[in-house]
Amino acid sequence: MTLQFFNTLSKKKEEFTPINTGKVGMYSCGPTVYQAASIGNFRSFIFSDLLRRVLEFNGYEVKQVMNITDVGHLVGDGDTGEDKMIKAMRQEGKSAWDVAEFYTELFIHDMELLNIKRPTVLPKATAHIDDQIELTKTLEEKGFTYTTSDGVYFDTSKLADYGKLSGQKLSEKEEGARVEKNPEKKNPTDFALWKFSPKDGKREMEWDSPWGIGFPGWAIECSAMSEKYLDSPFDIHTGGEDHIPVHHANEMAQTEAARGHELANYWMHNAFLTVQGGKMSKSLGNTYTLEDLAEKGFEPLVFRYFLLGAQYRQPQNFTWEALGAAQNALHNLEDIVRAWDRPGEVNKEVINKFKTQVNDDLNLPAALAEVWNLVGNEELESSVKAATILELDDVLGLKLDDIVAKSLLLPQVVEKMLKDRELARIEKDFEESDRLREEIKASGYLVEDTAEGQKVREAR
Ligand code: AMP
Ligand code: ZN
Repeated sequence: MTLQFFNTLSKKKEEFTPINTGKVGMYSCGPTVYQAASIGNFRSFIFSDLLRRVLEFNGYEVKQVMNITDVGHLVGDGDTGEDKMIKAMRQEGKSAWDVAEFYTELFIHDMELLNIKRPTVLPKATAHIDDQIELTKTLEEKGFTYTTSDGVYFDTSKLADYGKLSGQKLSEKEEGARVEKNPEKKNPTDFALWKFSPKDGKREMEWDSPWGIGFPGWAIECSAMSEKYLDSPFDIHTGGEDHIPVHHANEMAQTEAARGHELANYWMHNAFLTVQGGKMSKSLGNTYTLEDLAEKGFEPLVFRYFLLGAQYRQPQNFTWEALGAAQNALHNLEDIVRAWDRPGEVNKEVINKFKTQVNDDLNLPAALAEVWNLVGNEELESSVKAATILELDDVLGLKLDDIVAKSLLLPQVVEKMLKDRELARIEKDFEESDRLREEIKASGYLVEDTAEGQKVREAR
């Protein structure tokens, strides 16, 4: 069955063909860890999680890299304004390193609550300063840079197709109104690869470099870390659509200039989660975190279900009423699934219908409609429905296996092995725990280790 994605680069839906048969390398722009990620940010991370799950559903082995931006993302998104980390440090009275550590942990915790698969590699920008300096040196050697009083800049006029992702011409681009103009820049689109620390003071996060003490620009981390952990070029690059004109244009430019080839073959961008049709932003007081949702009685998976209601390229409006409707629907689904018999045979036809939808540029709303068709199908036995929905949930990620698994009556001998395995894990005897996993598997059950402990289901 073909798999099609909308590629921002070609501006059309294309059949997906990976560079290496059976394998996919993907890079997802991750969070800037200066505050708790908002549910808007999580629309982006759930989109990349759904994409990864759909690729895995199609049998691909996926290596996903997601960066943690803990330095260099300035308030203006361009190269002016304060560093978001330093600003947060001042506001919270903590060191920038502690702020980064705290919000990185919170991000990982929130990802688990939303059942977002942990990226294969989650590299931090501050742990890859040398790689960023090396790449900047290459750009300098190839004549793409110039130095001003406040940093080393990439000269975008030197790259013939700069800005091809957004389709805007260089001459049409102006620095945004929010961003104060930098008179030393040769072109408005030029961007910093390395910024100098202020002459009169020390920054808390700063490093030595061939050009002087300072810190990396925002986009260089993604070019440097993606080529460190993935092939260059790699298959798919994801992020929110706000990244198209600046951040991703700059990532692309750096890699193309330094390496002479594309950064990635497919570029996929999610539209925004909006409030009253407008931007979700801190200054408007309409941005929410998972904690805000929990205070109103909404568990994280309800938000995940809510997001399945819109295709990722469509803007989605957030309202408490819509979240309430998602909660009713999910609870309803859970109650129905709970009453089903233990999983039996899967229904291939239903799986194929669902797959047709998700393979069509992640059409999750249509795929979810197939789930409800399955639920309402009176001709199928509930054991068939149970087995089938568990397969579909590999993509949806609604943890329906928790519910189906609850009705599992485990043979005593398997119960005993699970208990022994739990003890082995507490004692960090991983050899024994792996041996028990195999023995449990031989008895017909698969065991998985999750944040809440061992989860078991029947092998199918
Ligand atoms: P940041 O932490 O600002 O670097 O953003 C992390 C990711 O969230 C980026 O890919 C953004 O494009 C994305 N993003 C930010 N706000 C929203 C929103 N309201 N809806 C969807 N994605 C968003
Ligand atoms: Zn990036």
